[in-house]
Amino acid sequence: MKYISTRGSAPSLDFEGVLLAGLATDGGLYVPETWPSFSKDDFRALRGLGYAETAYRVTKPFVGNSISEDVYQQILTDSYATFDHSSVTPLIQLDSDLWALELFHGPTLAFKDVALQLLGRLFDHVLSRRGQKIAIVGATSGDTGSAAIEACRDRDNIAICILHPKGRTSEAQRRQMTTVHSPNVQNIAIEGDFDACQDIVKELFADGEFRESVNLSAVNSINWARVMAQIVYYVYAAVRLGAPDREIAFSIPTGNFGNVFAAYAAHRMGLPIKHLVIGSNSNDILTRFFESDDMSIKGVQPTLSPSMDIQVSSNFERLLFELYHRDGDAVAAAMKQFRSEGKLSVGEDRLNLARANFSAARFSDEETLAEIREVHEKTGYVMDPHTAIGSLAGKKFSNTGVAMIIAATAHPAKFKEAILKATEKAPKIPHRLAKVYEKEERFKVLPSDASAVKTEVYKLVESLQ
Ligand SMILES: *Cc1c(COP(=O)(O)O)cnc(C)c1O
Repeated sequence: MKYISTRGSAPSLDFEGVLLAGLATDGGLYVPETWPSFSKDDFRALRGLGYAETAYRVTKPFVGNSISEDVYQQILTDSYATFDHSSVTPLIQLDSDLWALELFHGPTLAFKDVALQLLGRLFDHVLSRRGQKIAIVGATSGDTGSAAIEACRDRDNIAICILHPKGRTSEAQRRQMTTVHSPNVQNIAIEGDFDACQDIVKELFADGEFRESVNLSAVNSINWARVMAQIVYYVYAAVRLGAPDREIAFSIPTGNFGNVFAAYAAHRMGLPIKHLVIGSNSNDILTRFFESDDMSIKGVQPTLSPSMDIQVSSNFERLLFELYHRDGDAVAAAMKQFRSEGKLSVGEDRLNLARANFSAARFSDEETLAEIREVHEKTGYVMDPHTAIGSLAGKKFSNTGVAMIIAATAHPAKFKEAILKATEKAPKIPHRLAKVYEKEERFKVLPSDASAVKTEVYKLVESLQ
């Protein structure tokens, strides 16, 4: 399989190349040159298979010959053995045509583990074959940092250093990062806010000498391999509920558009998905696009669903590429305009093309809390605030006879306050989260200063050699 850039001018790469590159050199995102095609019988043949085996069959066309079959199968088995449910991403029935697809049974109790557990292992394998080592540095305001740390801990060829704003993450979020005692992991609390952390990371990447000397890298959400890993659970869930011989729709609480794009990819591979529903919180740039072709940047508002508090959905460019019939020059021009003017519209024909597959709706914090309360009263099921937005959006666009599957993206225990407010009961704390309260925390406190962080990264990298 070859991959091409959405902006048309970067060289095409194989799977290993896009895994290591992340972003393309022309600023675009990598996508498969052609979508692999599965027949109805190919999907029927997945019935009864376990998660790792399904993942192997679904992702094999994307990986091609980059990794030998035995090794890849073992990597998948190891990645999903870290989940604490035997079906990895279980389906919970909530109503006659309504299910929750629980994506939060990984080490950090949020859906990003599904892709990152695989990504960490793929990186390590490819790096060891090449005799290379990398340093990953990232800033986090909460959940992404812990998922990245869990993905990279104890890997021979990766050093990972995560910055968080001192005293500004929740205790649970901080402990999920700082109680990982692996020699290749360093946590740093920066005396400043999240923007200060991000500025330091940007400064590190801008320093060519530093970047090269430690082989600096990132595990950001535009990496194709993350999207690829997420395709699997859509196929797995749909097949479990009877696809391709039953109509299926998905509703997905959306931020960077990575998760919902993976569902679109499953559709392009031949999975009959009737409809994709996007749930937004009040940071509703995507909903405004699908409603009225208005993709314009506004300030970020904090909400109860913080993982969706974003201004620009970076993975949306992959859909734009399809809407422009894979014309990279046109996408490059559109993105240039978007960057300079802060807004983008695609015109009626392309909007209609997008609406053939997607609908979108926004919901406020009050509606989110009311949904958590209502679902809990009716069914006893407790949803986290992100999932509740998926639930609201799914119900808004549901059709009788079509199985609507809501992507449940985080465990409710990660959002204790919201759950308490909505249900008047604290959520049950799973063993994995309870454990982090018992372990000793390890982190360094540093001033908001890039050179101090550089020194720490050098030390970490040297200690691993
Ligand atoms: C990251 C995240 C999302 C948004 O997913 P995208 O792929 O960025 O659209 C939704 N819910 C939770 C809990 C997340 O962590």
